[in-house]
Amino acid sequence: MQSRPAVQHIPPYAPGLRLPGKIKMASNENPLGPSPAALAALAGHAAELNLYPDGSARPLCEAIARHRGLEPGQVIVGNGSDEVIFFAAATFLNPGDQILIADHTFSEYRFSATIMDGTVQVVPLRHGAFDLEAFLAALSPRTRIIFLCSPNNPTGTIIPQADLAAFLDRLPPEVLVLVDQAYAEFADNPAYGDVPALIGRYPNLLVTRTFSKLYGLAGLRLGYGLGPAGLISQMMRIKPPFNTSLAAQAAGLAALEDRDFVDRSLALNREGRAWIQAGLDRLGLPYYPSQANFVCLDTLRDGRQVFEHILEQGIIVRPCGSFGLPSCIRISVGTMEQNRRFMTLLEQALAAIPAGGAARCIP
Ligand SMILES: *Cc1c(COP(=O)(O)O)cnc(C)c1O
Repeated sequence: MQSRPAVQHIPPYAPGLRLPGKIKMASNENPLGPSPAALAALAGHAAELNLYPDGSARPLCEAIARHRGLEPGQVIVGNGSDEVIFFAAATFLNPGDQILIADHTFSEYRFSATIMDGTVQVVPLRHGAFDLEAFLAALSPRTRIIFLCSPNNPTGTIIPQADLAAFLDRLPPEVLVLVDQAYAEFADNPAYGDVPALIGRYPNLLVTRTFSKLYGLAGLRLGYGLGPAGLISQMMRIKPPFNTSLAAQAAGLAALEDRDFVDRSLALNREGRAWIQAGLDRLGLPYYPSQANFVCLDTLRDGRQVFEHILEQGIIVRPCGSFGLPSCIRISVGTMEQNRRFMTLLEQALAAIPAGGAARCIP
């Protein structure tokens, strides 16, 4: 049995490692665990698991819409935001259509376009940030979707809302712009703005968000897309009816209201992110100033070797070779105890592994 050629060309996904006994700081998960309110809701709905979930996830879409200042018809839920990204490609890409992505960004955009027989044009980041002028210059008549990620994984940089609006003003409305905001809540630069508020102004803007990071629900699989009702209703046609479970919907509803957990998570991240970046300054290692819950740093040597050294000592970080940044590693902000442990191990790795051997990635 032969698969479609597009499928044969897809390399296997390289996930963050999971090893019992090791501290995982590789996948930007919440170090405080899941939202307690979500856990309570899960337990409260356990006896209903014989029932199918609400296929339209109506109460959850209403709550998300309320939180984002939108209408329920402007929300689509997914089995993780990964699935919403896939819906966008499956709904709007014809075979041979082109997508634009950054050179160092999340792998899911290329993956979803490849499955749909799309082509991929890569646009270089500038200093780890999206160069929207370069995206405009790269437009072709075949360009159908532009994937932006803000804060960007793995660099942690943001696209200021004003820049995004000016970009959308200059784009043909038949080109979809998907802004992946998986880390939106961690951004505290006022220029980040409120991108979902732009949805009423542009027929071609889709924003994705997730419960995986801030709300600590990565294992449950719940994310959503926000966009104009006309665009969302087209994506709804391909949504499998029960793509989000009854458990995920109940937990998501509760997590949205778990203000205490959100506040504690954001405070811990703010403290840890600043502490890690100050430590990197002290060590003289370049890094991209992060607006997310991770920091991408240049080890000035082979990042894979640094990763392996730190792994042996008990912490899993993310080597960035698969993102095209071979001298970099990405560290998820953890508890302060985990952050201190990481910094100690990083210093030891730097002492053990001579500098050089990989071209420096962060100027
Ligand atoms: C983690 C992450 C997601 C979240 O994916 P889910 O499927 O919602 O868990 C989406 N986009 C980016 C850039 C991410 O890093």
